[in-house]
This record gives sequence, structure tokens and C-alpha cells, in this order.
Amino acid sequence: MRERNGAASGELMRLLPSVDEALQRPEVRALAPRVAPELLTELVRAALDAWRRTAKAERGDGATLRERLERAEWTRDVAAAVAREERAGLRRVVNASGVVLHTGLGRAPVHEEVARRMAEAARSYGTLEIERESGERGQRDARLGVLISRLLGCEAAIAVNNNAAAVVLALSALARGKETVLSRGELVEIGGSFRMPDVMAAAGTTLREVGTTNRTRIGDYRAALGPASALLLKVHTSNYRVRGFVEEATPAELGALGREFGLASFYDLGSGRVDAPGAPELAMLGDEPDVRGALASGVDVISFSGDKLLGAPQAGILAGRAATIARLRKSPLYRAMRLDKVTIAGLEATFELLLAGRGGELPTRAMLLAAPERLARDAERLAAGLRGVPGLAIDVVASTSQPGSGSAPDVFLPTTAVRVRHAALGPNALAAALRLGEPPVFARVQDDGLLLDPRTLLPGDEERLLAAFRSLSR
Ligand SMILES: *Cc1c(COP(=O)(O)O)cnc(C)c1O
Repeated sequence: MRERNGAASGELMRLLPSVDEALQRPEVRALAPRVAPELLTELVRAALDAWRRTAKAERGDGATLRERLERAEWTRDVAAAVAREERAGLRRVVNASGVVLHTGLGRAPVHEEVARRMAEAARSYGTLEIERESGERGQRDARLGVLISRLLGCEAAIAVNNNAAAVVLALSALARGKETVLSRGELVEIGGSFRMPDVMAAAGTTLREVGTTNRTRIGDYRAALGPASALLLKVHTSNYRVRGFVEEATPAELGALGREFGLASFYDLGSGRVDAPGAPELAMLGDEPDVRGALASGVDVISFSGDKLLGAPQAGILAGRAATIARLRKSPLYRAMRLDKVTIAGLEATFELLLAGRGGELPTRAMLLAAPERLARDAERLAAGLRGVPGLAIDVVASTSQPGSGSAPDVFLPTTAVRVRHAALGPNALAAALRLGEPPVFARVQDDGLLLDPRTLLPGDEERLLAAFRSLSR
């Protein structure tokens, strides 16, 4: 038996071409314009290897496999691999999930004017580090610092790559080789790998935990102070809430204690809710702390993300007292974490819009502030469009959207969604087909349907959505 099968599998393997022969097949040659020649060779080799392993493992008489080999089915695998290559990487998608700051989908999309300024900075020379009056070397984020300080009402500000970097910079510049005091209730983990104790270790400061998970008082910080103390830290518990008997030291208390002992104080706010002048307040965010309030409390420096609630490009913003910001600026880490000109252009443009009272126009703010009646109308219109696509069962349902990216985790915003059920595909299969479709669509599976939330749709997305569903039913 074994011998016969060995012979069968050897025979089957001989039905597979060499890589060079395979590359001459018309099905493969048709793929050539779509990928680099070396890559095509690699994908052909990988497909043939996989089929060779299948042939080798054949234990029956191999009739079915022989037919598939004679039809050169391996060419389909090469075509699929080429298609996967083309799909890979960063692509525009439609976010119909209702999660406004969707981490997986890149958090905040920026305002059109901001995007234009970013594109212009990218494709041209600019006044990045030059003083126009003197022609001398200048500071790349001097103007940005002024704009941030003006909006937030603080003495000085700088920005780095993201808020994680901002936290590392502050810890390193203010407490390297010394102790940082933090409440046990604020030993957070953000987005998988950003864990406060590890971040402190990386920044070279020793964690001094005080208080308990649910209750920490200012007296606990005071009792922990000693000759090694350098920094009083407060971290916003962005992505979770402790309920019940809860007590925490306020930023005002930490700022005052720091001044009493000559220690720095730093508050990592994470989400960065900024209620901008002239724009509607982000009242729907409940108890999410506000940046200006935190600064006014007297803490030395605060940090938050650019691409969370602020609605700007990815950045970490540090703001506060001029003397403290100057210490951060001197750190060698600041040079390693500095922003590129494209992000600086985007941040300057965003802060200008906020200062001009146009904060409500920033896409993420507009999404958070969207009126329920408008969302209901949008859902009805989208539903009407989708009813024209064969094979779908459509209805309009009440649902909720979320701010996302760990901001205000227990806030659910009322919305109206379109529920789609497909004649042939279950909700998970439908969601997968849409993710892989063109344009890719991300939506939420709930019970036996797929929910499309109009809150997170950008201009033109409704047409993109309809196109995605139409191409699905072809
Ligand atoms: C999100 C967050 C961070 C990390 O910010 P990134 O911009 O993702 O780097 C740090 N601290 C807190 C409290 C956060 O919420």
C-alpha cells in the first residue's frame, strides 16, 4: 500500500511545473503588471511549495488531486496571493462602526483645511526651523507652542510624536534616577503594551505606589515623600472606571503638595477633552476631565493625545508652566521624539481652527455632537439606498455609538443605525466580506445583523457604502 501511494504522490508532484515553467503560464503572466517580478516569483514558489506538500501527503489514489493539478489550480492561489499583496497596507476605509475614535481605524480623521495644510507641508519646503526676520536657525514648534498655550491658557507647551512619548519624556526629564509617586488606583494599561510600571522603568524612574485601588488621599502621597522623591504623577484612568467607594487626590492637591516640597507635578490626561471657545461643549462626555480645568488646578504640566478627543493629527501635547516645559525641552529624548513638519502643519492648522471658534467643524467633534434627528434622517436615507441592492433585508433601529480609543468608556451616545441582513451570508461572514471588499467597510455585528451607524460616516462615505454593497451582490 505504502509503495503504491509513494508512487502516486511522486506522480502527482510531477504534475507541478518548475517555477520557470509556472511563470510562463498565461494565468501567471497576466498577473505580472500588478506586482514586482521578484515578488511574483516568490509568490509562485510559495504556491507550488504548498501544492507539493499536499501532493506528498496524499494517501488515497490521488484522483481528485490529480484533476486539480491538471487544471493548474495552483494558479488561483498565486492570483489570490497577488490580490492579498494589493490589499495590504494602509488604505482608506469606511467607518460605519459608530466608534468615533476607532483605534484600529486610525482614531481622528482631520478637518479638510488641516489635511490641505499637511499635504502642502509634505510636498514643499517650509519655514520649519528658520526665523524669517533674521534668517537665523529657529525652533520648529515655537509657533505651535504659542497656539497651544493661547488655547489652553497656560504659559508654555510642546508636542511630541504621541502621548505615550509625552509621558516617557516627562518622567525622564523630571524624575530620572529618582522616585515618582503614583496612586495604586492609577496604575493603568493603555492599548495593550503601555503599562505604567513598565513605562516608568523605561524612563528610568522608580515607581512609588501609594494608596489603594479604590481610595487614595493626598495624605498618602505626603506620607510617601522622602529624599528620593522627584515627581507627583496623576494618570487619568481613561479606559476604565472604578465605581462605589472611591477617592482620589485632585490635581489641585497634587500641585499644592508639589509646591510645598519643591517637587514637580504631572497629570497625564490621556483623552484630552478641550472645550474650545465659541464651539459647543463636549457635554456628552460626562466626567471626562477637561484639559483647561486640569491646567488651572495648578499642576505643573499635563499631557494628552492629539488624535483622541482634540481631533488633530497623532501627537502628544505637553502644556503647563514655562520652567517645567523648559526642562522637558532640554531632554535628549525630546530631540528623539520631535514632530515632523507634516504633523506640525496639521497641529498648527487644528489649533488655529479651535482658536477661531471653529472647533465644532473638526470631524470628530462634529460626530460627537451630531444631533439625534440628523442621525435618524441619515439612517433613513442610507436605508432607502440599500433597499435598492438585491439580497439584503434592511431595517432602521435605535442604537448607540461610542467615543472610542478608551475615551469615556461608559459613555454611549444615542444614534439610529441601519441593520442589514444578507440572504446568503450570516452577519460575521457579511462583515468579513465588507472588510475585504472595495472600498473596505467596517461595521458592527450585533445579534443576527450588521449595524451601520451614520455617526462616523464622512462626506462621500454613503456613496462608498452603497458601492461596497453593490459590488458584494455581484
Ligand atoms: C491614550 C493614552 C495614552 C497614550 O496616548 P497615545 O497618544 O496613544 O500615545 C497615555 N495615557 C493615557 C492616560 C491615555 O489615555
